[in-house]
Amino acid sequence: MSTDSFDPTDAHFETLAIRAQAPVSPEREHSVPLYLTSSFRFDDAEHARALFSEEVAGNIYSRYANPNTDEFVRKLCLLEGGEDGIATSSGMSAVFCAIAARVSSGDHVLASRALFGSTHQLFTRILPKWGVTSDYADVGDPASWERLIRPETKLIFIETPSNPGLELIDLEWLGALAQSRGIPLVVDNCFATPYLQRPLALGASVVIHSATKYMDGQGRALGGAIVGTREYIADCRFFARHTGPAMSAFNAWLLSKSIETLAVRMDRHCSNALAIAKHFEGHPALESVRYPFLASHPHHELAKRQMSQGGGIVVLVLKGGLEAGRRFLDRVQMVSHSANLGDTRTIVTHPASTTHSKLTPAERAAVAISDGLIRVSVGLEHVADIIADLEQALGTP
Ligand SMILES: *Cc1c(COP(=O)(O)O)cnc(C)c1O
Repeated sequence: MSTDSFDPTDAHFETLAIRAQAPVSPEREHSVPLYLTSSFRFDDAEHARALFSEEVAGNIYSRYANPNTDEFVRKLCLLEGGEDGIATSSGMSAVFCAIAARVSSGDHVLASRALFGSTHQLFTRILPKWGVTSDYADVGDPASWERLIRPETKLIFIETPSNPGLELIDLEWLGALAQSRGIPLVVDNCFATPYLQRPLALGASVVIHSATKYMDGQGRALGGAIVGTREYIADCRFFARHTGPAMSAFNAWLLSKSIETLAVRMDRHCSNALAIAKHFEGHPALESVRYPFLASHPHHELAKRQMSQGGGIVVLVLKGGLEAGRRFLDRVQMVSHSANLGDTRTIVTHPASTTHSKLTPAERAAVAISDGLIRVSVGLEHVADIIADLEQALGTP
């Protein structure tokens, strides 16, 4: 029996992540090879015609598709429960493509206020150049969402949990509202991954990923994905095919293999993160600790309803603001000070001076990013070693 005969119908998450492989080639390889080829041969003139007119499926050119990107997309579709998907060169190209493929001049986008820094820039600085406007709704004000929807609203875009504030949005509630208005709900599921949260099953139409983070999990490669309804993805595919944000075959090959270990990695990211959140709650150098599975998190009940675990990110809010934040970053020893997240290595970042520095102080305050906020992307080192380093970096207040 060959791998080609794998039937995903009743398979579990871990099995899908490993067994939904690219078809075996005539070489009968066990591990999927890397297809470093820009284009593919046509059998004859009729085959080329049929491929281009999309009467038959098949590889043409790696900007459209490649066996490695196909495998990556197929895995994500199965894991997220999406009908179709595309792979992109980065998380931001996925965000841009998912929006640009669907809006025209005069259209409107409704978004949550708590968004990844570059997504925020896209809404405030880039889309307005083409006459696309947006409004931000607040997590704490459910009525504002309904109020801000207009006849020109073409999509609702959110992140949950948000980067880096860890604010949660009720996917079932917003999914139902979006559906009642006939507007697609697009969810950036980067922090949770499909292992912890499946937005499509809760009412979203589309899921976005920065595969750079937990999909890779080892801080090596950039990548992104859009997964969702067949109809929405058809527009994204057309847009991507003719604008070129394709994922490289090498990155797709790497990411497809990384996804095989996503479940075991996420289990450990989550157990380490919960232990760290519990350990530091009440620490004298901290104003607060934020983690979705801590009872003190304002959206704790919601977190337990829509996520299976709390994720790998813990937020520490230091007493003493900007200065305390900078001192902490200069004191960590084993823990890395870097901009990525979702890595095997624990990473700390200071959003107020880096990823979210382009926001005004008022904008940062509105999305719960205070000057002393440190985002800890909890890695897979032994939890006692991570705690020891963070502890010494906090010092005595
Ligand atoms: C990192 C990130 C992105 C952007 O992904 P890139 O792969 O860096 O382009 C988008 N959304 C969230 C929530 C992220 O953390």
